[in-house]
Amino acid sequence: EEANNNNESPYISSVLPGWFSEISPLWPGEAHSLKVEKILFQGKSDYQNVMVFQSSTYGKVLVLDGVIQLTERDECAYQEMITHLPLCSIPNPKKVLVIGGGDGGVLREVSRHSSVEQIDICEIDKMVIDVAKQFFPNVAIGYEDPRVKLHVGDGVAFLKNVPEGTYDAVIVDSSDPIGPAQELFEKPFFETVARALRPGGVVCTQAESIWLHMDIIEHIVANCCQIFKGSVNYAWTTVPTYPSGVIGFMLCSTEGPAVDFKNPTNPIDADDSHTKTRGPLKFYNSEIHSASFCLPSFAKRVIESK
Ligand code: SAM
Repeated sequence: EEANNNNESPYISSVLPGWFSEISPLWPGEAHSLKVEKILFQGKSDYQNVMVFQSSTYGKVLVLDGVIQLTERDECAYQEMITHLPLCSIPNPKKVLVIGGGDGGVLREVSRHSSVEQIDICEIDKMVIDVAKQFFPNVAIGYEDPRVKLHVGDGVAFLKNVPEGTYDAVIVDSSDPIGPAQELFEKPFFETVARALRPGGVVCTQAESIWLHMDIIEHIVANCCQIFKGSVNYAWTTVPTYPSGVIGFMLCSTEGPAVDFKNPTNPIDADDSHTKTRGPLKFYNSEIHSASFCLPSFAKRVIESK
């Protein structure tokens, strides 16, 4: 039965039978592959194709439109970094907004911060939320925190209705800029994010790979330099199952109390009360926080020229 299952998805390669290969125009000429044990779910939502499979070495894998969003083995790196880089950079974050992030992993990480009083999330695709709750309970556990308020809808529209200065931090955990997330990489979206932040508030957005997408990154950095008058920084980390094995984050602050992203002022490793329900942090610590802003020369040249 398992062998039959493997051949039913268009994303299972005929070159490597029984393997998932991630093929996309966003990374032409290469395709990372994982061996499939069993396909657990395949559906089509109003926005995208949703698939979950059991891999042989990375646990369960969530795939949207043929692109890996997370695996059980390495999701900690992405979720912890995209969350704690911004939240550990400001004192006492209280109101946090997550755009995208339907799997709940960022919520799980935000809820480790005891100062936080309100966690809003706006995810466009209800199927992602349902599938995460069914297949990824250790990720979707983020929804169980009573501070979380879920809004199902487009993040762009949601932000337009947010009163000015509402949030201490906005985290944009989006998919790639092909499909429903396209607008989340464009200038008007960053303008609405800046408006929604308090003075000295921070944003952290998923910002692709320095090996594959310097053109996209250059464009985002240029826009952010015009919009965010506090600081504009690029950080990156390793996630083995993302294309090229790395992912970047754009970290910006609005005009107001200065934010020095490279030197976290609100270290989470000091307080371990959050580990009782969520388990210990697996990836993030204060050293890796500061180190993530060190860039290879080729990327530094482009990013610092903006
Ligand atoms: N948290 C994940 C991880 O560990 O890598 C990965 C990304 S998450 C699943 C990306 C989410 O952004 C998807 O669920 C997608 O539906 C959502 N999304 C895309 N465009 C959106 C939009 N315009 N508004 C809100 N959510 C959006």
